[in-house]
Amino acid sequence: MRKRLIIINFVVIFLSLLLMVVVSTSFIISNNNERVKSNLNDALTMATRLYDGSNASEVCNIMYSSDSNIRITIISSDGEVLSDTMTGEIIENHLDRPEIKNLGEIYKRYSKSLAMNMLYIAALDDGSYIRVAIPEYKLNSVIEGMLVISTLALIAVLAISILITNFLSKRALRPLSDEIDRFSIITGESINSSYTTEEKLAKSIDDVYNVINKQVSDLKREKNKLSFIINNMNQGFILIDSNKNVELINDEALKILKAKKESVLNKGLPYLIRDNELIDSIDEVFINNSNLKKEIIIDDKHYIFFIAKNESLVSMFIVDITMELQMIVMKKEFFDNASHELKSPLQTIIGYQEMISNGIITKEEDIKHAISRTIAEANRMNSIIVEMLELSRLEGANKPVKLERVLVKSNIHLVLDSLDSQIKERGIEVKLDLDDSYSYIESNDLNRLLVNLISNAIKYNKDNGSIMITLKNEVLTISDTGIGIASQNIDRIFERFYRVDKAKSKELNGTGLGLAIVKHICKLYGFTISVESEAMVGTSFIIKLK
Ligand code: ADP
Repeated sequence: MRKRLIIINFVVIFLSLLLMVVVSTSFIISNNNERVKSNLNDALTMATRLYDGSNASEVCNIMYSSDSNIRITIISSDGEVLSDTMTGEIIENHLDRPEIKNLGEIYKRYSKSLAMNMLYIAALDDGSYIRVAIPEYKLNSVIEGMLVISTLALIAVLAISILITNFLSKRALRPLSDEIDRFSIITGESINSSYTTEEKLAKSIDDVYNVINKQVSDLKREKNKLSFIINNMNQGFILIDSNKNVELINDEALKILKAKKESVLNKGLPYLIRDNELIDSIDEVFINNSNLKKEIIIDDKHYIFFIAKNESLVSMFIVDITMELQMIVMKKEFFDNASHELKSPLQTIIGYQEMISNGIITKEEDIKHAISRTIAEANRMNSIIVEMLELSRLEGANKPVKLERVLVKSNIHLVLDSLDSQIKERGIEVKLDLDDSYSYIESNDLNRLLVNLISNAIKYNKDNGSIMITLKNEVLTISDTGIGIASQNIDRIFERFYRVDKAKSKELNGTGLGLAIVKHICKLYGFTISVESEAMVGTSFIIKLK
């Protein structure tokens, strides 16, 4: 831009000066012509006045002494030169000279004798021609002088104008240069110093645009990531600004607090939280800058609100601890039950052993009975422990390890074979209707599931009752014609150590863990299990194998 400015300035000044020179030169020329004419005429008048027809050389001397640049020639009427201010003898006849032919007219011609252009005029006076001539060089020198001065002035003006333009444009562009420097700090890129200011500016704007563009897309990506994380975490999250308005809230928090985003966002906390204690805790965090934990129950669910302050913002994480609390309760119940289950056989064992060692039981028959009871109770304890370990294994397993493609009906036959003595002992009839359904399962787990269900169907059956096992399109049904389960107890039979009739279960060597194990196997493999039962009619367990 600066270069262009200088060039434009240069052209304008050059043209102006040229115009000035042309105009003034033509003015000077025309002026000079007039002056020359007038000088010629004045000199001619003067010479004619002085000439009296006989004093030719005197007139020439007088005229020459008054102005040595003027040439006076006095010519006789027949063309002979009588006198001339120019030295040397002139023998040429002058009658053919145009100024002699056309008296009063000015003529220009090259004078060989003076070796320059001369202007001539002549008049007839007292029988002689008086011719006056002045050299043209006078005029040329004026013009030349003018041109030299004009050229020098042009150069000087141009130099000054370049300097001024340069200085002014630099000053005008300085704020831009400062901006360019600032831009390069933003972009972190130095710009080629050979660039003009405009090129630098264009490059800087380009670079800054790219940086801003990148930062905007980075920000967008970060924002998307953040909102994805916030909305997909299974914890509630709320961000509260310094004015205690809700700045950010995720879907989980809206669900927990039963609120709609548009009714709470950018609004005060009371729009979102109805619990005064929680609002007090948030206030406390704002004032004391200390983190807080608050447990709140909403709709029978237990939540912990982790409230923390970071600069002027307060964040709240809401964690649902209902399951954890339930697990704690369940674990406690389990340990209570397990201890109780193990305590009673142990007490029986200790009781018999003490009676034998203290000599309370002495008869061989009684001792035999005591020992067989002790062994039975020890076996019972062993069964409980084995099933507890099994349950623990299944609870700890996230997914099955070795999946096998198992033909379900062959495992059913295997299990029935292993339970054959019990079936026969109760006189139970087993009816089968099995297709060739396969299941993807660890064979041991399928066997355990089948053993637990079929042995229950035997245990809780009537003598000479029947068991019906069907397998159709991966749906396994094990039905019995046993004692059935009252509807109020059906929901609880899968709980650990739950037995409808404790005494009966014990009598049948039940541990109360069989169905809990079945439930966990189904859960592990994604099977669904349901129960249909009618007291004193029978029970059906229906499993949809995956
Ligand atoms: P248990 O070792 O006592 O059999 P389970 O967990 O296998 O423990 O079963 C829990 C309870 O469910 C049993 O005590 C019994 O009361 C009831 N139950 C299970 N299966 C049957 C069935 N087929 N018929 C009737 N009651 C059943």
